[in-house]
Amino acid sequence: MRKANDSKERLLTDIKLAQKKFECYEKIYIGLGEEGKRYLQSQSKLYKEKVADIQKIIQSSLERNCPTCINCCKLYTPELSIYIAGTIGCFEFIDYLLVRSDTVLPNPNLENMKNNLCPYWDEGCILPSDCRSFSCTKYFCDVLKTEIDMKIISEHLSVIQALLDNFSLKKCLGMNTLT
Ligand code: SF4
Ligand code: SF4
Repeated sequence: MRKANDSKERLLTDIKLAQKKFECYEKIYIGLGEEGKRYLQSQSKLYKEKVADIQKIIQSSLERNCPTCINCCKLYTPELSIYIAGTIGCFEFIDYLLVRSDTVLPNPNLENMKNNLCPYWDEGCILPSDCRSFSCTKYFCDVLKTEIDMKIISEHLSVIQALLDNFSLKKCLGMNTLT
């Protein structure tokens, strides 16, 4: 019983942290200057194109397998704090900015999180298909891996990874002129 309570507390703490982080991301996005937003838009376009390419490749496999599966996005484990609990939609700061650029995201359903369901889950992912976090984009379960040409996927993922690695927060935040 004590263990269950500890886990529940841990989950609630993780959810609060996730919400705070997410609010910070949004505040920073709203506060970006014109030049930073222009830089972000150029990078966002590339990011979203690659994410959409991957989505197109996997779409039929997702449609075939996901509706009857109870794993990944649909995990319902209120007694645990799992990989998804510390974030909203698995976003880190940079992929959030890239996705948020020029797009108003649907409101996350924070109540979902108390049951370890993703706040963007509602009978399917409610995010636009090119607006997924990198963590979501690169996750492939064993079933998908057997059906999809993972070599092509790896190539697309490498491009996204390079884009994230080379993303200049300084430019985006307008700090590149500071000494
Ligand atoms: S991606 Fe794989 S694990 Fe996730 S819901 Fe689809 S079939 Fe299930
Ligand atoms: S954001 Fe979408 S794809 Fe990612 S975990 Fe949530 S429901 Fe699944």
